Amino acid sequence: MSVLSVVLPAYNEEAMLHKAADTLKTVLEGEKIEYELVFVDDGSKDGTWREIEKAAAGDPHVRGIHFSRNFGKESAIFAGLATASGDCTAVMDCDLQHPPAALVEMYRQWEQGYEVIEGVKRSRGQESILHKASAGLFYKLMSEATKVDMSRASDFKLLDRKAVTTLLEMPERNAFFRAMSSWIGYRSSTVEFDVQDREAGESKWSTRSLIQYAITNIVGYSSAPMQLVTGAGLVVLVLAIVLGIQTLIHYFTGHAVEGFTTVILLILLIGSVIMISLGIIGYYISRIYEEVKGRPKYIISRKI
Ligand code: UDP
Ligand code: MG
Repeated sequence: MSVLSVVLPAYNEEAMLHKAADTLKTVLEGEKIEYELVFVDDGSKDGTWREIEKAAAGDPHVRGIHFSRNFGKESAIFAGLATASGDCTAVMDCDLQHPPAALVEMYRQWEQGYEVIEGVKRSRGQESILHKASAGLFYKLMSEATKVDMSRASDFKLLDRKAVTTLLEMPERNAFFRAMSSWIGYRSSTVEFDVQDREAGESKWSTRSLIQYAITNIVGYSSAPMQLVTGAGLVVLVLAIVLGIQTLIHYFTGHAVEGFTTVILLILLIGSVIMISLGIIGYYISRIYEEVKGRPKYIISRKI
């Protein structure tokens, strides 16, 4: 009989952990699906690890790993994938915003031979207007950068062992699960779900962290910003030709002394274009530096 592993990244989720474990147990046992739950405590500062230990104590289905500090959800997902031993592995949030009923639907599709089953958001649930707007902008940029439609994508997915192995073999440090799981291909399908309301605890995403996340992933998955530098260079070149001709005409007609305003404007314009360009290139270099250092994505300090 095949086993389904469910990876649940958890950061400061002591309020939701027990509930998540119980709900999944009830649903999966009801559906007669063999399963294991892999909780990844992403360096929580509250009692999440204690809750995981408690859940694991009375139940052989529950496993847990604890990070030495907060490494972020992406790292938690990859640690979970590396730990999971099932024939297929699902990733879902442990705040129950991803409905367990959709998990069952994904599993049924896997049984029919699909290898990558992606959860697609039918509706986004309750979010503040600011959050909706920034998330909207984020997905637009991300879709542009990765050439994959991300507007309804989520981290809620079920992957066959083959797909999990492929993902784990990818050497990059700056992993972006959502994009990588569709990049790898395989026989894929989607399951629509409605984002549920969070029952307890709070969202870990601030607008600032979303912007940071967007920049990191856009730089990680696209060289478009570098082409922007070339674009800016071309625009300045056109300006240079026009002004160059004008300057020469002035020189030959004997009006050469005028034009300090133009000089000041040009210095300011070119200065800022160069600075911004250096900044963009510098950002890529810093990403390359991060990758080259080859540090681990996460450090596990405890297991159960
Ligand atoms: N999470 C994590 N590490 C982090 C932030 C979040 O493992 O640094 C987990 C969190 O515990 C939850 C999931 O990622 O299970 C989604 O986080 P959250 O609910 O805060 O995001 P939202 O649903 O608001 O997008
Ligand atoms: Mg959530």
